[in-house]
Amino acid sequence: MSNHELDAFLKARIDSLRDAGTLRPHLPLLTGAQGAKAVINGNSVVNLASNNYLGIATHPKLVQAAIDALQKFGAGSGAVRTIIGTMELHEELERRLARFKGSEATLVFQSGFTANAGVLGVILAEGDLVISDQLNHASIIDGIRLTKADRAVYKHCDMDDLQRVLKEKRAGHAKALIVTDGVFSMDGDIAPLPDILRLAKEFDAATMVDDAHGSGVLGDHGRGTVSHFGIPHDQWDITMGTLSKAVGVLGGYVASSSDLRTVMEHDARPFLFSTSHPPAVTAAAIAAIDLMDSDEGQVLIDKMWENTRYFKAGLTALGFDTGISKTPITPVIIGDEAKAIQFSDALFANGVFATAIVFPTVARGRARVRTIVTAGHEKHDLDQALSAFEKTGKSLSVI
Ligand SMILES: *Cc1c(COP(=O)(O)O)cnc(C)c1O
Repeated sequence: MSNHELDAFLKARIDSLRDAGTLRPHLPLLTGAQGAKAVINGNSVVNLASNNYLGIATHPKLVQAAIDALQKFGAGSGAVRTIIGTMELHEELERRLARFKGSEATLVFQSGFTANAGVLGVILAEGDLVISDQLNHASIIDGIRLTKADRAVYKHCDMDDLQRVLKEKRAGHAKALIVTDGVFSMDGDIAPLPDILRLAKEFDAATMVDDAHGSGVLGDHGRGTVSHFGIPHDQWDITMGTLSKAVGVLGGYVASSSDLRTVMEHDARPFLFSTSHPPAVTAAAIAAIDLMDSDEGQVLIDKMWENTRYFKAGLTALGFDTGISKTPITPVIIGDEAKAIQFSDALFANGVFATAIVFPTVARGRARVRTIVTAGHEKHDLDQALSAFEKTGKSLSVI
């Protein structure tokens, strides 16, 4: 290290992580493919940690589409979208996504994270107001930070509090935007979009949902949270989604009016200044959307939900507190931070990988082990997981 100040800064940060007990010895390491059963840190385990909801990250149709595109069009796209990095595949994906979501247009970004940063940066200006659920994803928070809009936070899914903020602040601002996750990633609960929409209309605010954990999970063929509630797509202003979770590949998108798409094409900085997806990624995403929209896709979604109900019922019967989840994300609330980490370690020793989530990601005293079941799990995987939970829960006096 050549710079002393930098060196000292890094050492101090690592020391503080070590003192807090949150320094990772290494990142969890996957050997082989992402699957419901996987080899993690050298052990063969039931994997309850991935966002591969439909198990299609390894689906032969996605893999073949990627291989074909790679051979036909090469490894990289060679430019940003606005210069000469827009291939026919990119536009094809956007057409399919718009049809799938029922929106006038979509624009694809390199990731869900950059989609949020891109769209929020474009629509929010000085003098505007953005109102955000307290538990919204980091990429929404960072996206808002990139703007000069005034910001307000409402209590998690609390419509009285959202109404209070609107009453207090709406009048003094030009545009207003209410933004929420569709499905919350740490609790697995669903935002009350119809109530949010009612308040938005009453106070003349625009609406945006981040559907990273809702797309592919909720609604007919996984069309997402807006469809789940039966809200017509022309009533809801902006839906952001990811291609990295249920879709099984990589990327993010904004489904919206074609005017918003046009403005993002000109003003969204991650879109303008970062190279587009390689052909293989784009082709695999197209194959994934096709799959989700087919009978096979609906079968996978149904299986994921059947697994979800089975696993949740099993945890509840064992006496665990699974919080307020309504989706395949099921937290097992432990409370104490150190105990949650110990719980996750003991599960791993018993052949199950599920991550401990502690403060500051969730409130202090609400530490948990988070589980996500997928369409890729079989009943015997879930039974194996439930017996590991039972054994661990009893030995740590959680149940
Ligand atoms: C994962 C996630 C993102 C980011 O999506 P990526 O495609 O992984 O960048 C954004 N919002 C929410 C709510 C997420 O869970």
